[in-house]
Amino acid sequence: MPHPFNVDLTVDGHVHTRLCGHADGTMKEYVEAALRTGLRKITFLEHLEVAIHTRRKSWLTTDDFADYFRRGRRLQKEYRSRINIGLGVEVGYNPQAIKPLQHHLARYPWDTIGLSYHFYSPAGLHYNMASRNRDHITALKARGLDRVAEDYFKGLIQALEEIPCDKICHLDAVLRHVPEFQFTDDHLDLIEMLLERMCVKGVALEINTAGFTIGDHPHPCPKITKKAIRLSIPLIVGSDAHHPTQVGRFFDRLPNWFQSLHSRPESLFQPD
Ligand SMILES: [Zn+2]
Ligand SMILES: [Zn+2]
Repeated sequence: MPHPFNVDLTVDGHVHTRLCGHADGTMKEYVEAALRTGLRKITFLEHLEVAIHTRRKSWLTTDDFADYFRRGRRLQKEYRSRINIGLGVEVGYNPQAIKPLQHHLARYPWDTIGLSYHFYSPAGLHYNMASRNRDHITALKARGLDRVAEDYFKGLIQALEEIPCDKICHLDAVLRHVPEFQFTDDHLDLIEMLLERMCVKGVALEINTAGFTIGDHPHPCPKITKKAIRLSIPLIVGSDAHHPTQVGRFFDRLPNWFQSLHSRPESLFQPD
């Protein structure tokens, strides 16, 4: 497969397993799926959240991660000659828990740290900004969608200063299940600032193909990806699989999609 813009499509850099409580399949089943798909490398990026108050936990505790590393090390040995296996983490930003997050991240030798920002707390309980759950969306609407997105991007900009990370996951996934929501000019300014900080810090941008389950492009959208390419921010592809059958999903669409970025209007954030 061609590698447009030097994106390696033989690596799936973002998969989950049943260890998080909301995905299916064992680590071994994901590795087997990656082999069937012809991938050269698969990176587990299990959820870590700290001090998040929700009705249901959907991430690993730090003790769960000890088990994750034990299983992962075994698989790395078993599949050594067939596929490269990365053991990483998708850490969720929480502005109220910077020190504990730093502490937990320092506990394990992650191959890669993906930074995301899922949970927002207008008052007490946390609500997932990327979720399709109606209760979460209702609570976020009560706060004001523009404000939620503004706090989301400001949060990520701040997180880059506080949380060590290698890439930002699904950067524009905030409120992705609220069809009427659109980014304002202020949001776009914040996105530009965020990309510029990523550039300075050498943090990569994830091209998350779960976006194709909602629309005609991955996360992030074409204009953000174009801006990242112009800044020479490295791009890393991930399926965000929550089931073994989703490993490498939609990667076959990416060569054409990257090609199509060429034909879009040059000026950044013009309507397209
Ligand atoms: Zn998940
Ligand atoms: Zn995520």
